[in-house]
Amino acid sequence: MTFKELLRKVFFIEILGGLALTMKELFTPAVTRQYPKVKRVPFPGARALHALVRSDVTGKAKCVGCGLCAAVCPSKCIHIYTSDGEDHIKVVNRYEIDVLRCVFCAFCVEACPFGAIALTDHFEYSGYTREEFYYTKERLLENWDKYMAGDKGKVYFEKFWGPKSADIAHKAVEKIAAGGGV
Ligand code: SF4
Ligand code: SF4
Repeated sequence: MTFKELLRKVFFIEILGGLALTMKELFTPAVTRQYPKVKRVPFPGARALHALVRSDVTGKAKCVGCGLCAAVCPSKCIHIYTSDGEDHIKVVNRYEIDVLRCVFCAFCVEACPFGAIALTDHFEYSGYTREEFYYTKERLLENWDKYMAGDKGKVYFEKFWGPKSADIAHKAVEKIAAGGGV
């Protein structure tokens, strides 16, 4: 044993070092949250539970049933059932997402040319059956009303996702025509 090692043993250097570290950590603010009492506020544009966008004008889903979202979805968890309506206008009878299979890539949001689907920031959902995670068109519209009401939905598309929905794109065109940039 060297003299230095002997000194360390005599003066309990390791123990004192350990105690000092413990005292330091006692007064350091915790980095963990006491979830669910303390909840993390999601970042704007977070990718959580899906919603179908409700049009301000018609009060109905903006989705026209083109099927691009379902085609691009890598998980194949979007199911759309359409039929021919009046004047051969497509009617979306059912629009369903099997959320348990989703990987939250947001390709569906990016692919939609009408800004008709969104990923809300609602991440706290749970259930006991698979059926609870099978979101129908009605439930997806409810999600929009619950989690993207008011300006939140508009900000979501303007700030985070493209291509822009028809009404937002129209605003941009107006701005360019008036001599301003996008
Ligand atoms: S987020 Fe990705 S995996 Fe989920 S439904 Fe959309 S395209 Fe499919
Ligand atoms: S891409 Fe948009 S408009 Fe087309 S089916 Fe999907 S959500 Fe509806």
